[in-house]
Amino acid sequence: MARIAVIGAGMGAMAAAARLAVAGHRVVVHERTETYGGALRRVEWDGFSFDAGPGLLPLPAVYRDLFVKTGKEPLEACVELVQVDPSSHHVFADGTRVSLPNASRAGVVSALEESLGPAAARRWGDFLVRAREAWDRARRPLLEEPLWPNWQVLAEREPYPAVPHKRLLRTRTAGTLAEVGAWELRDPRLTALLESYALAHGLDPRETPASAAVLPYMEHAFGTWYVRGGMRELARAVYERCLARRVEFRFGTEVTGVLEKDGRAAGLELADGTVAEADLVVAGVAPEVLDRLVRETRVRGDGEVPGRRGPASRVTVLLALRGGRPEGTPHRTVVHTQDRGAELESLSGASGGLPAHPTVTVLRPDDPALVPDAGHEAATVTAVVPVGAGGTPEAHAEKLITAAGRAIPGLRDRLLRHEVRTPADIAGETGSEGGAVPVPALAAAGGRLLQPSNSTRLPGLFTVGGWSHPGGGLPHAGMSGALVAGLIVEGPEFRGSQ
Ligand SMILES: Cc1cc2nc3c(=O)[nH]c(=O)nc-3n(C[C@H](O)[C@H](O)[C@H](O)COP(=O)(O)OP(=O)(O)OC[C@H]3O[C@@H](n4cnc5c(N)ncnc54)[C@H](O)[C@@H]3O)c2cc1C
Repeated sequence: MARIAVIGAGMGAMAAAARLAVAGHRVVVHERTETYGGALRRVEWDGFSFDAGPGLLPLPAVYRDLFVKTGKEPLEACVELVQVDPSSHHVFADGTRVSLPNASRAGVVSALEESLGPAAARRWGDFLVRAREAWDRARRPLLEEPLWPNWQVLAEREPYPAVPHKRLLRTRTAGTLAEVGAWELRDPRLTALLESYALAHGLDPRETPASAAVLPYMEHAFGTWYVRGGMRELARAVYERCLARRVEFRFGTEVTGVLEKDGRAAGLELADGTVAEADLVVAGVAPEVLDRLVRETRVRGDGEVPGRRGPASRVTVLLALRGGRPEGTPHRTVVHTQDRGAELESLSGASGGLPAHPTVTVLRPDDPALVPDAGHEAATVTAVVPVGAGGTPEAHAEKLITAAGRAIPGLRDRLLRHEVRTPADIAGETGSEGGAVPVPALAAAGGRLLQPSNSTRLPGLFTVGGWSHPGGGLPHAGMSGALVAGLIVEGPEFRGSQ
């Protein structure tokens, strides 16, 4: 039995902690705030309740596996998972609307046929076949296995089988998501649909590799889920599973350093001046935090993966509305930008803030737990904003509420109260610089979108969560917990659990 000190109580760290405790280790989690869950926060006032972090769960299989491996009660006995159907409703710049059904590639194609016509629908269907091929190639190395020591193969090889395209007497194949849109989809609405999967992570589709086709594929193939009571219920369930496995939590305990002894991680230094000795350390924190904890020694990037900082954060407006949620309202509506050029310019940070018409995601859960009574509705509106972008919270809110008006009829008349959540709030809750949110690992692009491996150059120190392989997002963080536990329990030869 080893003594394992975990830094941070984010989802990746807790997933690792529960698995390590089941393997017989003594696990203590040190969390600088007074609560668990990291980005998965809940905001409550006036009888309303809102998710301030992610609002939906892709790939619940990752958390189902965690619950199966750490106890008798399955995930479904601890939280109520609800399939979100339609999975998303889209409002395009030209006013076209389409609702895409949950977890049905054929259903998505027929919905597109009805709104955009048979030719466009066929092109999206053909694209999904190619996206599936990319997924089949990338799934294991990018989600289920520890980062390959020869990760350069992933950095160089594009798994998406782009269609050769004749242009000015030359044959070219799409290398970026924007090129896939322009050359293979050839419809501004399909392009907007495709690019929205990159934009949702703050990635510029002109620089995002075609391999990001796996993002819409995953959603169309495996569906989107909501946790009844709000997404923080998932964090509660994982926290309680940790407690049931005798993981100890020390809240209000900021870690200020990783102790090193004989060239190995040997415990933690804490803000109150005390020391917590340990045989192994698992860090679930942002890269700049870890850099400080190891006194700027480069421990991440085993084999030189760059270990990128996150490009973007989020602005979210929480809306308390008078009047009940109308029957048949889509859970998620994506309102696409009416000015793609301005949005892409803003992503680069060049324009200094949010564009006038940002792409926004409007979430309107059908959940009585979020409202004081049936005569009210709770909704959230989120846009991506570059780290360090200017603009006041109220200026952001104004743009988001205007854009959301295309999804919620009569929004301004129904508005009782709103609250703006800024990158500074995210920084406060996760510790990441500028409130940056990590992106899922993607192949190609020279490795720019890979995150460093879960083992580090300092023996005994492992990294977990969105800033480590396999990158950001709830399922990815859960996978990183499984990978770290595998590497600790089975050793460096561990090659993934499936
Ligand atoms: C607004 C928002 C929207 C998001 N939307 C999506 C989405 O739509 N889809 C998606 O897949 N993902 C989304 N994410 C990202 C997703 O929530 C995270 O990738 C996921 O929760 C993984 O988090 P993590 O394990 O890296 O830990 P984090 O949530 O980053 O938590 C890190 C923890 O470490 C603690 N900590 C930091 N420094 C120290 C220290 N020195 N000592 C002790 N503790 C410390 C922090 O207090 C925090 O509790 C979103 C995030 C935010 C904020």
